[in-house]
Amino acid sequence: MYQVVIVGGGISGLSAAYFLEKHTAAAGLDVSIDLIESRDRLGGVIVSERSEGFLVEGGPDSFLTQKTAAIDLCRELGIGDQLIPSNDQQRKTYILQGGALKELPDGLFFMLPTKVGPILTSDLFSFSGKLRLALSPLFSPPIEKDDVSVAQFVSKRLGREALERLAEPLLSAVYGADVNHLSAHAVLQRIVEMERKYGSLWKAVNAARRAPSRPAGNGQGTASTIFVSLRDGVGQLTNVLQQALSRTQFVTGTEITHVSRGASQWRVHARDGDAEAAAVIIATPAPAASRMLQQSNPDLAEQLNGVTYHSSMTVSLGYEEASFGRTLDGFGFVVPRGEGKRLVACTWVSTKFPFRSQPGRVLLRCFLGGARDSAITSMDDASVLEIVQHELRDIMGIRSQPFFTRIYRWDRAMPQYNVGHPLRVEKIQQLLKTQPGLFLAGNAYKGIGIPDCIDSAAHAAKGVIEHLTSLG
Ligand SMILES: Cc1cc2nc3c(=O)[nH]c(=O)nc-3n(C[C@H](O)[C@H](O)[C@H](O)COP(=O)(O)OP(=O)(O)OC[C@H]3O[C@@H](n4cnc5c(N)ncnc54)[C@H](O)[C@@H]3O)c2cc1C
Repeated sequence: MYQVVIVGGGISGLSAAYFLEKHTAAAGLDVSIDLIESRDRLGGVIVSERSEGFLVEGGPDSFLTQKTAAIDLCRELGIGDQLIPSNDQQRKTYILQGGALKELPDGLFFMLPTKVGPILTSDLFSFSGKLRLALSPLFSPPIEKDDVSVAQFVSKRLGREALERLAEPLLSAVYGADVNHLSAHAVLQRIVEMERKYGSLWKAVNAARRAPSRPAGNGQGTASTIFVSLRDGVGQLTNVLQQALSRTQFVTGTEITHVSRGASQWRVHARDGDAEAAAVIIATPAPAASRMLQQSNPDLAEQLNGVTYHSSMTVSLGYEEASFGRTLDGFGFVVPRGEGKRLVACTWVSTKFPFRSQPGRVLLRCFLGGARDSAITSMDDASVLEIVQHELRDIMGIRSQPFFTRIYRWDRAMPQYNVGHPLRVEKIQQLLKTQPGLFLAGNAYKGIGIPDCIDSAAHAAKGVIEHLTSLG
């Protein structure tokens, strides 16, 4: 029997265990799996909580349908019928501009306008900003050979306003990142590839416009939606995953301090003991992986440590609808850095996912922190709530008091894909090849979303199976 150790019990570690169980059985390999997690609970940043008639998401609140790994996994686990699409009849996003909420224009393909009409009639841009956008096909800059920042990439092609009023707030809400450092090749990969393929962004946009539209999801009400969640919240996925693992032993509350290589086996060390394994998957944030490998592989550790992480927090607020005093006709808003607020984004949960609040109640969820504002994540709850309520009053005119609040803090949980990130990931992969039996999974490498993490776990599990098979 082969022993495999997985370090980290977030979605990456749990799905790695799932794929290992599934494929080792099919390959006729006898494997015992230990999954070791430093916290007292599994799931990592995925937490769904029911309280006071609300379903509150502490971390991620949904996943993309376009990348199908999460939906496919839900189906395999028998919870495909629990997937719930966002309420797309009300799919409108607002952007704070000059203190007022302005609607995101229709017809954007990733941030690129595919229709001139909505841009010209939008009140999000100034006259000169609209002109710059409308004329941007004439400003096709030479395609950069090397990676550049999102700020450089977008402003050269679409102008400063499109960067400041569109790209920066939308990407900050997803990555908690600074667009001056964020890698275009990593986070705008599809656009960059299409630009290279067609020779210019605008030829690429035209080609995308002409292409037959591909259904995003694959069935059960998820076909045309961008986001889906689960009836009991995203945490339903990690809970069901955990229950589905019959050959995995879970060890919680144990921090792995380092991972080293013996003559024929790997050794995984904790403060109160160590274990041997034929293969190890490290499915933690990259800095933790770096610390574990510092002694055994300083080069790999250095590359991993180069993926920096920012902290963030979510603040959920529940109100009685009768006293709320505002209609929520959209999914919420994002806030450009230039607006000088501490809120990065606010999801109007009762509209985006109405099943998450009882009728007669309203649920909002604010996102704060990231590269823009690391200080707020160490402020006490009362101060955070005061800031959030003050800004919601300013932006949305909310004067009523929430009867329910919940704050979740995520310490250095959001990886920053800075310029050069794809090259760093290649180096990490090269260095890993010199460490047979060691694999990495997680949000540090090829995508931060839940489907990306599941894909990374599937890849790591495949590597383990190939390695074990090669041992004979
Ligand atoms: C606030 C927030 C909102 C998000 N929203 C979305 C969203 O809506 N949709 C989406 O697709 N994605 C979203 N994401 C991103 C996505 O949720 C994460 O990238 C993903 O869940 C990360 O999973 P993971 O298992 O790789 O890492 P984690 O969830 O961070 O899990 C890693 C685990 O490793 C453990 N660990 C660390 N060090 C050690 C050690 N030394 N020994 C043992 N265990 C260790 C940690 O305790 C942790 O449990 C969001 C992220 C955050 C923070």
